[in-house]
Amino acid sequence: MHLELEGRRAVVTGASRGIGRAIAKSLAEERCNLALAARSEEPLRNLADELNNCFGISVTTHRGDLGQRADQDRLVRETGPVDFVVNNAGAIPQGELEDVDDETWRKAWDLKVYGIINLSRQYYTLMKQRRSGVILNILGMAGVRLNARYIAGSTGTAGLIAFTRALGSRSPDFGIRVLGINPGLTDTDRVQELLRHRSLERFGSADRGDEVVADLNLPFGRMARSREIGEMAAFLLSPRAAYVSGDVVTVDGGFTHRTFF
Ligand code: NAD
Repeated sequence: MHLELEGRRAVVTGASRGIGRAIAKSLAEERCNLALAARSEEPLRNLADELNNCFGISVTTHRGDLGQRADQDRLVRETGPVDFVVNNAGAIPQGELEDVDDETWRKAWDLKVYGIINLSRQYYTLMKQRRSGVILNILGMAGVRLNARYIAGSTGTAGLIAFTRALGSRSPDFGIRVLGINPGLTDTDRVQELLRHRSLERFGSADRGDEVVADLNLPFGRMARSREIGEMAAFLLSPRAAYVSGDVVTVDGGFTHRTFF
């Protein structure tokens, strides 16, 4: 299948590692030009050089804290209109209601919730003028399979799923698609950090993350690979998915609806 992404341009937020990096690579393999955004310049620059050398595409880098309104605005100014926006940056902390204080909760939502909403609003306006574009939000199955131990994440993601569905039901009137991906537990740096933490809590040693994963009884006996999310993203952005809008595709091997007895 030919995805017809060559020569188009995508903004990917949180592209320095994990799922965002994998999405950037999948798009680069399709010769899609990229604008990569994250907090730290060096990993972004290294990735940009690698993708430019391998695939001959144009890659720009945009350093900034996307939890800050000024940096969100600057990213949009720097990139100008683009064909695709992948809202991926996010880092909502684990914890129950009494573990997550007001300041922590708001800071996390400034990035993952308001960041996605504000960037979507700005790029949506630009896309409306051109009557084309796709906004793809990387959300999470915690918004469906609610988790009191990740309460700020579950609550925020549930809202973003509603946001994505509502906006994506209206956006086709302006030639735009808005959709999301709900990744299951995906093997990224952030998840490896979390597994070390859980392993320490449970076994008194940080190096038994594999046992923590085994106990989750995940489909196919493993986490999702970030590349699997990247490939789904490339497909959903492409004209091959031209009639998909206002919905969220789950990539979790069936975990969301798996029962335990
Ligand atoms: P990660 O921590 O490995 O990567 C996060 C990326 O976001 C990095 O590039 C980081 O620099 C960037 N980032 C973080 N804070 C930022 C800020 N303030 N400003 C700009 N950039 C910032 O995370 P990941 O596991 O790859 O997760 C990526 C997205 O996928 C997140 O939104 C996360 O909620 C979502 N998600 C992840 C999983 C999973 O299991 N890994 C599951 C469901 C959803």
